[in-house]
Amino acid sequence: MAPCSPRFKAIAMDLDGTVYNGSKAVQGAAEAVAELRATGLEVLFCTNNSTKTGKQISDKLCRMGIPCTADMIYTSGDAAADCIRKMGSPRTYVMGSDVLKHSISAVSEITNVPEDAKALAVGFDPTVDYEKITFGVRAALATEKIVFCNEDAVFKKEDGKIYPGPGAVTAAIRACSKREPDAVAGKPSVYMMNSIENRTGLEAEEILVVGDSFDTDIMFAKNCGTVGILVGEKVPGIFAANNISEIPQLALKFGTSDCL
Ligand SMILES: [Mg+2]
Repeated sequence: MAPCSPRFKAIAMDLDGTVYNGSKAVQGAAEAVAELRATGLEVLFCTNNSTKTGKQISDKLCRMGIPCTADMIYTSGDAAADCIRKMGSPRTYVMGSDVLKHSISAVSEITNVPEDAKALAVGFDPTVDYEKITFGVRAALATEKIVFCNEDAVFKKEDGKIYPGPGAVTAAIRACSKREPDAVAGKPSVYMMNSIENRTGLEAEEILVVGDSFDTDIMFAKNCGTVGILVGEKVPGIFAANNISEIPQLALKFGTSDCL
């Protein structure tokens, strides 16, 4: 069989649970990213966290020995802003972090009056309370468009314990407004991939997805028509790696010798 030409030009690498756990780098992460880059692959980082800017995340990666710039980072907040822009930049009520408000304000006018909103953007907010939900529900009932950053149900912190994710808030908005979102921007949605395609000029099938969550990362790859590698867990029929250190070898194998 004739060898395939390299299929992948970039990797969309998940961050939390794959490259780092909270403030700690995963062992071997810096070396693995360097190896991937040495093979010619562009390494992009892709996170459903909408509470940090690309710059904050790239600074953190640099501190962990992974040279990086903000334009290599894709967050669900950026993807939500792209969605709002594609919807014609309607006046938006933002329920979420200040970082998300900043991202949305780059593409659309922000209103603090829920009833005046033409769009509602919802992201993670660990300080959410009854008043914030009240305003969010009023906006959901008044707006034409609803965009969720992502609906992750739970996440783990450095203490190893489970905490509710943005799904806790999006479930409240769905239940109380009886409305469905027009777009869920982050992984596993194709909107996140559209943001990557727009910024890099690559096609989804040229991008290998790597991450530690089947529901988020592997479903992201499947929804976008590309290949995903699940890190740290084995699921029948899914390419798996025990940890990030195994990714360079797998990526090389997929890219140069296997016609997938
Ligand atoms: Mg993860």
